[in-house]
Amino acid sequence: MAFLCCGLEFTLQQSLEIVTNHKDLRRVLDVWRKEKAEIGFVPTMGALHEGHLDLVKKSNHDNDYTVVSIFVNPKQFNNQQDFILYPNPIDNDKQLLKNEDCDLLYLPDYDDVYPKNLEDVVLDLGNIDKVLEGPKRPGHFNGVVQVVHRFFDLIQPDRAYFGLKDFQQCMVIKLLRNQYFKSIELVFCPTVREKSGLAMSSRNARLSEKGLVSAVNVYKSLHAVMKLFDQVVPEDALKYGKYLLENQGFQVEYFELANSENLNISRKWLKKGKNVVLVAAWIEGVRLIDNLVF
Ligand code: AMP
Repeated sequence: MAFLCCGLEFTLQQSLEIVTNHKDLRRVLDVWRKEKAEIGFVPTMGALHEGHLDLVKKSNHDNDYTVVSIFVNPKQFNNQQDFILYPNPIDNDKQLLKNEDCDLLYLPDYDDVYPKNLEDVVLDLGNIDKVLEGPKRPGHFNGVVQVVHRFFDLIQPDRAYFGLKDFQQCMVIKLLRNQYFKSIELVFCPTVREKSGLAMSSRNARLSEKGLVSAVNVYKSLHAVMKLFDQVVPEDALKYGKYLLENQGFQVEYFELANSENLNISRKWLKKGKNVVLVAAWIEGVRLIDNLVF
């Protein structure tokens, strides 16, 4: 918890409280609400890294209290193997959250998130579900909608924090917020990368040392495409990016240019700042995604 005194910001070191069901969650939130405190929320699936912790830092900075959830949401996995292999280093995650001065960890089980009487949320994702991740991961965004709706409903945070590494997911969350939770402020945060440029991801833990070295090429290929902005037509730039990855042993699912405002796939370069190049590619049985806006 942070507070201001004489223009200086102080952080009050507190212990991390852990709740595993929504009744205990509500009990803590009710106390904070009586204090008229502002609450930030960071939903995660655990196996935390600097990308997640950056969201926690931002939430701590903007709010009186920060809630982090760790829940590996089966509804957003279209690939059973990916779900089974998802890393789950919970003791390490708790320690990282303590170090980061997170106030509350919500660590629910499946039945707490999805009680039997809970109805599915309906949200028309329009074009967003028809491009890029949408067709490649059928049902994925619907699963994201179900879990984030449930968490927003339970927590009713003042602000919620998401990473632009999952660019398309940010757009889905925006639609959800605009339809159901207009009072929640969304904060989208830049992708945190290793020095090499590799986007931090929980799935990187499944790569061998060699795989990690190859994975750097995901960012390099995006960067190479950006360098070709206005030099060659996008089709050729994207072909080159794809070639760079395939040459390193990747299987590329998509490598596309889109409008960063609506994710419409574009065959032409857009105005500066409106281009987003997005890639999904497999290496060593691990699916990596990344994007670059320019
Ligand atoms: P996940 O645990 O993968 O569901 O991610 C939880 C949140 O962390 C999502 O909002 C992600 O977009 C965000 N996130 C994951 N990796 C990064 C990263 N490298 N930089 C910034 N945010 C990230």
